[in-house]
Amino acid sequence: MIRIPAGQVAAGHLPPVCPRHGEHALEMKKLRLISKPPSWAAVLILLGGIVYLIVVMALRKTVHAAAWPWCEQCKAARSRNLGIGLGVLGLGLLLIVVGIATIDGSAGPLLFLVGLVALVVGIVFAARGGAQAVSGAFVSQDGNFVEIAKDDPRFGQALGGRQAQYR
Ligand SMILES: [Zn+2]
Repeated sequence: MIRIPAGQVAAGHLPPVCPRHGEHALEMKKLRLISKPPSWAAVLILLGGIVYLIVVMALRKTVHAAAWPWCEQCKAARSRNLGIGLGVLGLGLLLIVVGIATIDGSAGPLLFLVGLVALVVGIVFAARGGAQAVSGAFVSQDGNFVEIAKDDPRFGQALGGRQAQYR
């Protein structure tokens, strides 16, 4: 795991090396990074999804990265996940429509169910194609750092040991 001060990320003072893959950055991307929901917040789901959402949104820390290193692999992962996700999602919608149209038949209900599953799988894949999901970076709970759990050592070297804090 590598931690970069949030101010440095916001200012765009990062080397042109991908933090996740260690490859030379093709472009420096504007990226909105947010923190993960704290693990204890999951208990609030028992009180209702709305309570959970309100608390998580209130606690959420955001860092607007001015120039995040984005490499060939990031690009490929994003388009692959988005492509699969949207494809499966479209298929799911089609199955649901066909399933509803033939709901009185023997295959209708099954098509509908398979369509629902495909819809969820599609959404999961499409979400994995989101820019932050691909970058593998999260804002720390206190909002002071941007953390990359699976960083590539080449990024750390390019960043310089004194700027980053390892743990
Ligand atoms: Zn990358």
